[in-house]
Amino acid sequence: MSVLPPDMDAGTFAVFLEELRAVVGADWVWSGDEDMFTYRDSFSPVWNTAQERHASAAVAPESVEQVSQVVRVARRHRVPLYPISTGKNFGYGGPSPNVHGSVVLDLKRMNRVLALDEARAFCLVEPGVSYFDLYREIQDRGLKLMVDCPDPGWGSPVGNSLDRGIGYTMGYFRDHFGAHCGMEVVLPDGEVMRTGMGAMPGSDTWQEYPYGFGPSPDGLFAQGNFGVVTKMGFRLLPLPEYYRTAMITVPKRRDFVKLVEHVNYLNDSALIGEVEYGSPMRAKMADRDYLALVTKTGGPSDAEMDAAAEAAGLHNWQVELQFFGPEKSTLENWNYAKDRILSAIPGAVAIEGEHFPLPATEEQLDHARQPYASSIKRRRSLGVPSLGEWKIVRDDGHIGFFPVLPRTGEAVFEVQRVLGDAMKEFPALPPYFNALTTPLMWHTHTFQMVFAPSVRHNDPAHNEMAHNAMKKCVAVAAEHGWGDYRAAPIYQDDVSGTFSFNNHILRRFHEQLKDAIDPDGIIAPGRGGVWPRRFRQ
Ligand SMILES: Cc1cc2nc3c(=O)[nH]c(=O)nc-3n(C[C@H](O)[C@H](O)[C@H](O)COP(=O)(O)OP(=O)(O)OC[C@H]3O[C@@H](n4cnc5c(N)ncnc54)[C@H](O)[C@@H]3O)c2cc1C
Repeated sequence: MSVLPPDMDAGTFAVFLEELRAVVGADWVWSGDEDMFTYRDSFSPVWNTAQERHASAAVAPESVEQVSQVVRVARRHRVPLYPISTGKNFGYGGPSPNVHGSVVLDLKRMNRVLALDEARAFCLVEPGVSYFDLYREIQDRGLKLMVDCPDPGWGSPVGNSLDRGIGYTMGYFRDHFGAHCGMEVVLPDGEVMRTGMGAMPGSDTWQEYPYGFGPSPDGLFAQGNFGVVTKMGFRLLPLPEYYRTAMITVPKRRDFVKLVEHVNYLNDSALIGEVEYGSPMRAKMADRDYLALVTKTGGPSDAEMDAAAEAAGLHNWQVELQFFGPEKSTLENWNYAKDRILSAIPGAVAIEGEHFPLPATEEQLDHARQPYASSIKRRRSLGVPSLGEWKIVRDDGHIGFFPVLPRTGEAVFEVQRVLGDAMKEFPALPPYFNALTTPLMWHTHTFQMVFAPSVRHNDPAHNEMAHNAMKKCVAVAAEHGWGDYRAAPIYQDDVSGTFSFNNHILRRFHEQLKDAIDPDGIIAPGRGGVWPRRFRQ
């Protein structure tokens, strides 16, 4: 199927591609079905339907100057570009654009680590640098630095953080956009801009002081469409000397409320890294009566959950803790956490995990993380990129809804009940929201929960069901003030529409900016729900 950019005929498209070839070289411009296959979103719930959004071509520049020239050519021809860094955004649209016929601006050739400073703990990278690349460079140079990496490791710090991706170590670093410092951007007219201290010629603090002077526009480029990011700085963790894990379980359902309060305190005081909440009772979900209880309409009562846990001889909740730092402080912090929680929650039990100096040996990385999680999780917890988490992908992929909610036990119970009941309309889906669903603490001060139904290339009815469930989740969650943190292009308008305070003033503000700097929609029109005037209808 050949696809053309909006408002363009085949003859002009051929001229346009010739102009791109003149900028980047004939080998670095692609079009046609076979070459464009890799730019499809293989996780798309509308795969092979009329709604799937296909790119018309792809172009891969090798320098900032070439990016700037490509943008200028696109502007002259009014062709939308869709910038990607490593293009692995699966679950959130992969490399495919918001607008059918856009040209993918693939930045994979710009793959240099431009600065890596051990003493000052930062890096400056180009978009095509993957987490594997950055990790290897640190290893090759023998630097005592740790990268907070997401799964899978073939993604890039630039692409991941521009979609506000997350990782698994200490709070300050898990929010990847939050951990960035300074960027270089090619604007929709081809001009090159640097943010923060990068705007001051001769400054040596571009990767350390994020603000510079005056307004700070960096946020416009994350989940936005105001430019093509060509360099980005990130803060890195000094490699911790030691690593320790442990787990605490609490018996009663209501204990979760107190447990969360104490874990929040430990997190906010920077005494622990990412935590994993869970429930020992998940082992009982195979039991039909118990499954019926945890998926009961209106939610089970505390007494019902407590009685079931007591009968099983198990606790209702568990939390796995991680400690990073000098050996002595990891031990002190664990002892402190244990004393604090055990003295506050009757019946709470502490379980020692594992502990060893960093860097971990290959054997330690491959061994399952204790007390209960998998080896893959141990790699990412220690900043070692991996493709292992791909094993969670079912069928041909998945779509994802991860609502942001308050960091309290009560909020978790409410989400379990409200979204659990709402999803009863889709009985073929696994019960994502049930009375044992626990929150993620990726970001430092909020919780999120997971809804990730699979997609199947040869099962349109299943995909339609998943698609409808996804839309319902977005709408019902918004009625309660829980917003999706990130979305594939096909859901971005729905999600953006839920951030509607004062007659959608936020979106209208973004659109005013977009109209001012990119009225023809050259950069990713529609990304983040921001449409320029040309495409608004
Ligand atoms: C099994 C599995 C596990 C996952 N686990 C995680 C996880 O732990 N954490 C997590 O965050 N994600 C996770 N993901 C989602 C995704 O795979 C990663 O976030 C991945 O890093 C994103 O792809 P990328 O880094 O190649 O970014 P890209 O695909 O290159 O970029 C993402 C988006 O940002 C924009 N963009 C990219 N580069 C630029 C640029 N230079 N200028 C302007 N805009 C740009 C584009 O709109 C692009 O679509 C997971 C996915 C799967 C399938």
